[in-house]
Amino acid sequence: MCEEKKEKTETELLKEKLLIKKESGAKTLSEEEIRKADEFCKGYMSFLDRAKTEREAVAVTIAAAEARGFTEYDPDLTYKPGDKVYVNNRGKAVMLCVMGKNGTKNGVRLGIAHIDSPRLDLKPNPLYESNDLAMFKTHYYGGIKKYQWPTVPLALHGVVAMKNGEVKNVYIGDDDDEPCFVVTDLLPHLAVDQMSKVMTKAFDGEMLNVLIGSRPFRKDEESESVKLNIMNILYEKYGFTEEDFVSADLTMVPAGRAREVGFDRSMIGAYGHDDKVCAYPAVIAAFDTELPDSTVISVLTDREEIGSDGATGMKCTYMADFIADLAEADGMRLRHVMARSACLSADVNAAFDPTYASAFEANNSSYINNGAVITKYTGSGGKYSTSDASAEFMASVRSILDEKGVLWQTGELGKVDGGGGGTIAKFVANLNADVVDLGVPVLSMHAPFEVVSKIDVFETYRALYEFYNYSQPDDEGE
Ligand code: MN
Ligand code: MN
Repeated sequence: MCEEKKEKTETELLKEKLLIKKESGAKTLSEEEIRKADEFCKGYMSFLDRAKTEREAVAVTIAAAEARGFTEYDPDLTYKPGDKVYVNNRGKAVMLCVMGKNGTKNGVRLGIAHIDSPRLDLKPNPLYESNDLAMFKTHYYGGIKKYQWPTVPLALHGVVAMKNGEVKNVYIGDDDDEPCFVVTDLLPHLAVDQMSKVMTKAFDGEMLNVLIGSRPFRKDEESESVKLNIMNILYEKYGFTEEDFVSADLTMVPAGRAREVGFDRSMIGAYGHDDKVCAYPAVIAAFDTELPDSTVISVLTDREEIGSDGATGMKCTYMADFIADLAEADGMRLRHVMARSACLSADVNAAFDPTYASAFEANNSSYINNGAVITKYTGSGGKYSTSDASAEFMASVRSILDEKGVLWQTGELGKVDGGGGGTIAKFVANLNADVVDLGVPVLSMHAPFEVVSKIDVFETYRALYEFYNYSQPDDEGE
């Protein structure tokens, strides 16, 4: 392009030097970069379709990791720089590790995302019949707006563990030729009472009952024959009985596949972006990391949506225990390794939504297509329940991203006192490591169909990759 060069005015020069550039986001990306983002997201969409629950995400991740040369970690073996291992925690959390040139000497580089998403878990005694309809009782998992879940096609995913140790996989409702399930809602004609209620009262947790059948078992006139018919179908297909529901992790998730959104196909709509949209980039960043300076660990954790408690959540010691093993092998102590470690807590933030603009503060919100969002702190009220990354750590992260040309932005989770939320960042900070949240902005977060931008997914991958592969200047150069 041939354009006459005009002299910049003094105001223009000063603006350039001192102010945040107004021209930002996708507009600054080359066609090539956007093409790469689109390509990257094909893999992500396929991951989403196969990984709706944490168990599925772990299974898919380990299969892909093994295909790329990762082996299951054995604390009794000796590893060398560049070796790739994984740790499977109960099939519900997984860590991918690439051994660094300096091992754990200068700390480790962590990227942690969660693979559980809000959903409707079946109660331990879920099956019942009412007025000749067979239903499942559910107990919702994570923060949901309950009114969003009725009249959405649902699929049943999970496992039933038998007393003999056998674990049966249940996976039904996603394919076009399979039946799905649904929570019913009241017709508007008869909803005068319901419509006058406040949202939290209009649909309560005990109304999230899933319709699963309606035909009776034909052979006799017994009561609850619809229930019996459903149990018989389940027994014939999976071989478990009503009592076995007590030892099951079964959950109703929105049925169907990830879809491109918009005439320009710039976005992806799907169930479970929060937080597979950061988990997938963390997995691929570990796959693409060959020989980092410091050991790199991508952690896909569970239980985040319900507070990170439990053996597969980030309040558990499983990650620290693994790092302790690595530290010992290097003749280091865990506490010294942790103090030198740095972590990107890879989780989503709320993207500014013009329809709900009043929930956001425009200058401190993240926007679709503006890249990975760094969230210095989450929490609520007066910064309660957040680790709030230090100025120094923020500086080191933005310096890496700028040096490598990663598209990023910063944003808070909505307006001050507008509500709030948290991530696993604080649990990592409590281990005495530097940590900040970095991830993808999401529209309709926690809804059965959430929306993200392809560009933001790719830039989050790039952020994690560059963070993992950054050469620390304080390394003794070999
Ligand atoms: Mn999340
Ligand atoms: Mn969430």
